[in-house]
Amino acid sequence: MSRYAYVNGRYVPHGRAQVHIEDRGYQFADGIYEVVAVRHGRLVDEGPHLDRLDRSLAEMRMAAPMARAPLRHAMREVIRRNRVADGIVYMQVTRGAAPREHAFPKAAKPALVITAKRLLPKFAQMEKGVSVITLPDIRWKRRDIKTVNLTANVLAKQQAVEAGAFDAWLVDEGGMVSEGTASNAWIVTKDKELVTHTPDYRILNGITRLSVRALAETEGYRFVERPFSLAEAQAAAEAFITGTTAWVTPVIAIDKKQVGDGKPGPLTRALQRLYATYADNPA
Ligand code: PMP
Repeated sequence: MSRYAYVNGRYVPHGRAQVHIEDRGYQFADGIYEVVAVRHGRLVDEGPHLDRLDRSLAEMRMAAPMARAPLRHAMREVIRRNRVADGIVYMQVTRGAAPREHAFPKAAKPALVITAKRLLPKFAQMEKGVSVITLPDIRWKRRDIKTVNLTANVLAKQQAVEAGAFDAWLVDEGGMVSEGTASNAWIVTKDKELVTHTPDYRILNGITRLSVRALAETEGYRFVERPFSLAEAQAAAEAFITGTTAWVTPVIAIDKKQVGDGKPGPLTRALQRLYATYADNPA
């Protein structure tokens, strides 16, 4: 299958898609991105993802590369040209290409790249659950902005893979779990309360997190936003992660210590089913 990418106004074959060597994304990680799931040909939570894109742009003091209507059209065109029914669409906006100077360039225009690829939901992994290790969270203090500077996330994920785990949960200086390298972390306490980190500068406020939260509230589950410690997570009844590609994935071990009875828990399963139904029928 030949693949196509959108690069600054043009649809080009994926293998020949290029940006300038002085693009500020390349030189300074001066850019932001979004990933939206495509399910049965439809975009899941498109509005909230585009709202977060706008928020990231505003926090970075970057101009939008185009208005929302043409952006939505371009996303659909990339999905169509790549014949994606189930998968993801990736959008990246950088401050553009300019001679290397830290301060914002005066003339540069924001650069927009959109790609899409096929990817089926990871049903087997969701069924079985995953294990995570924990690592110090060495990231900057604006994790709420979805920037392309993922250095710390990349290093942590690689360390997890080398340890035979699916991911790393990142732990701050106070011993609190912030999130995974590309997902939000949740626990279910022994008295069946859902707990996930407060959406502040310490985490990325996941769109899946928000949808799962809304589903949990509709079901009347008890839910609280607060940091939780590693010790609390290891002693929890259940644990799971949420994310655009992970959906709701049970966490069955943390640093080799099993969570609960070491199997995906009932509340996790219930939320997983609710989210799968939701993703299958996006608004
Ligand atoms: N935290 C981090 C650090 C992430 O990279 C992601 C995935 N983009 C998430 C959380 C989950 O966010 P979402 O549900 O919007 O995919």
